[in-house]
Amino acid sequence: MQEIKIERTTAPKPRDYDEHKLGFGDIFTDHMFVMDYYEGKGWVDARIVPYGPIPLDPAAMVLHYAQEVFEGMKAYRRADGKIQLFRPERNFARLNLSNERLCIPKVDEAFCLEALKKLVEIDADWVPSLEGTSLYIRPFIIAVDPHLGVRPANHLMLIIILSPVGAYYPEGLNPVKIYVEKNYVRAVKGGMGFTKTGGNYAASLKAQDEAHDQNYTQVLWLDGVERRYIEEVGTMNVFFKIDGEVVTPALEGSILGGITRASCIEILKSWGVPVSERRLAIDELYAAYEAGKLEEAFGSGTAAVISPIGELKWGDKIMTINNGEIGPLSQKLYDTLTGIQWGKLEDTFHWTCPID
Ligand SMILES: *Cc1c(COP(=O)(O)O)cnc(C)c1O
Repeated sequence: MQEIKIERTTAPKPRDYDEHKLGFGDIFTDHMFVMDYYEGKGWVDARIVPYGPIPLDPAAMVLHYAQEVFEGMKAYRRADGKIQLFRPERNFARLNLSNERLCIPKVDEAFCLEALKKLVEIDADWVPSLEGTSLYIRPFIIAVDPHLGVRPANHLMLIIILSPVGAYYPEGLNPVKIYVEKNYVRAVKGGMGFTKTGGNYAASLKAQDEAHDQNYTQVLWLDGVERRYIEEVGTMNVFFKIDGEVVTPALEGSILGGITRASCIEILKSWGVPVSERRLAIDELYAAYEAGKLEEAFGSGTAAVISPIGELKWGDKIMTINNGEIGPLSQKLYDTLTGIQWGKLEDTFHWTCPID
């Protein structure tokens, strides 16, 4: 494995924020991990350096053709003070899945995990300890060669930055109102929907904006061909409990394979709850609702873990789920996942990864 050069900051930033008031993604730690890829040389110059701006040529390919992929995960402070990650090897595996689709050279997953652990260790004091807070980890790759022709890049950078973030639910789990999107689509099969790439988010902003104007938090995406099959919610995968069975859309190329999603499925199965990964049409969901069989709905993702859905608006039809309150299964999943992540419950699945 290549060596990681370490240059520590001589001017540590004051950590004078109130952990009760931490938001999401505004504060960054003292260091970052950087590595370059050059055609013919591979990934080289692994280094941990003081956090700061990076020089970028105005012709850098990422700025013109969106050659970018990213990941999102968290480091959690346990009650005993130790720090742990949650299934981080899955994030680096998914990074390579995204890389492959965007013609970005693959990374050494084991090496990236080692580099991440080292970085978190160096900035360990930045991992907050208040209930529900964590250190958000953002690895990303950008194409930096100055070139305006469209082609895969020859020079790229992998960077990992860290950001202490606040509790997602400081006042308890709050069900969200979701708008079923009929006009815009996020991704299609054959496109990039299964990858974590900035372009997918750029494509989603307009719908998000219009949903906000109508007082809805996020949109529920339907498939891009028939505008009928449920895909996912904004930055989350989605689950429905229908007549005792938990249903989530199957991963067929246009949906992001969430690590929280995979973990929910494994936990539900371990409890003996029937789970089905399949196509689910919005009209089927509405029929289940009308028959009184739509029992719970929730989104899943690293940021919120579980986000209960209290209301769905599909055209002029409104579905109020579980009286707009969190359902018992959603609550139990939330408690179990967060219990494992913050080290309060025994990690029977072996999902956590200690930093030291
Ligand atoms: C990251 C992401 C998710 C959730 O994935 P997790 O690994 O559970 O955090 C879901 N949908 C989209 C579009 C995403 O980008």
